[in-house]
Amino acid sequence: MRKLKLLLARAITRLAWQLGYRRRPSAGYVPVLCYHRVLPELLEDENNPVYTLLPEQFEAQLAFLVQEGFVSLSLDEFGEMARGLKPAPSRVVLLTFDDGYADFHAVAWPLAQKYNVKLNLFISTGLIGQSGPVIMTQNGYRFHSGEGPSLYYQGHLEKFPHLWRPLTWEEVREMGRTGVGFGLHGHTHRNLVDLDKTELVEELFAGVRAFRHHLGYSPRFFALPYGDYGNNLPEIMAVLKEWGCDFIFTVMWGRARLSSSKRVFPRICIHQQDSLETLRMKLLGAYDWLETVGHFLRKTKGLGT
Ligand SMILES: [Zn+2]
Repeated sequence: MRKLKLLLARAITRLAWQLGYRRRPSAGYVPVLCYHRVLPELLEDENNPVYTLLPEQFEAQLAFLVQEGFVSLSLDEFGEMARGLKPAPSRVVLLTFDDGYADFHAVAWPLAQKYNVKLNLFISTGLIGQSGPVIMTQNGYRFHSGEGPSLYYQGHLEKFPHLWRPLTWEEVREMGRTGVGFGLHGHTHRNLVDLDKTELVEELFAGVRAFRHHLGYSPRFFALPYGDYGNNLPEIMAVLKEWGCDFIFTVMWGRARLSSSKRVFPRICIHQQDSLETLRMKLLGAYDWLETVGHFLRKTKGLGT
């Protein structure tokens, strides 16, 4: 079903693009790209192939961004531009990864350094420093035991266990010294949509505390695990704001409008099926209409904005 929706969105977008659809100018908008994993072999599952790129795909995208003149931002630079403290160049891009798996350090980061492209990582703090391969579920991360039904990534995980372990805090700090930007992505990676108020506060405070303890500063940027906030947005914003964190990223697609007063920004997921032409369309706003549709659907479902 999800795959069908993606295919449909892609087909509509391509058609509209060919017909000359350009809803918004580039000035004042930043495509915030959302990546997850860069792994040496693709995961074999029909429903879950989308978030993993091969190293050569990621490298081709980095080269493309440089060649097309896109200036990559750190989260701090994005924050300054959103606050109006720094002018935004006409072609900017913010590259973000989620979760905190070791392949970010082993594969994605060295490639980005080669092309001098800035990367940013939203980390699930409870994950960092844990030993052994972990997997994500709606109830948070858990260790891979090898028991239970065979899962689509099992073969991959057993072949590359060193890429399925979380990062260590030392690796995070090492990358920070080279300019990688960090934000928070929850503590246990539970879906915030499902949490009651007490659980929500515990989850976010645990993340902020760990961030401060291991990195020495409070997170100012937050990416929602699973990309959505259900009815919990006001509470999420209130808790995070207490710690000075007032930039929230979803996965609602569309480019981020720097002047957004709410500071809840969409991100554009990058999929392994994306050609460089699709990447260009994503960067230039071809998928912005999906954010409008997303807002409309939330309102009709009674989920607020
Ligand atoms: Zn995540």
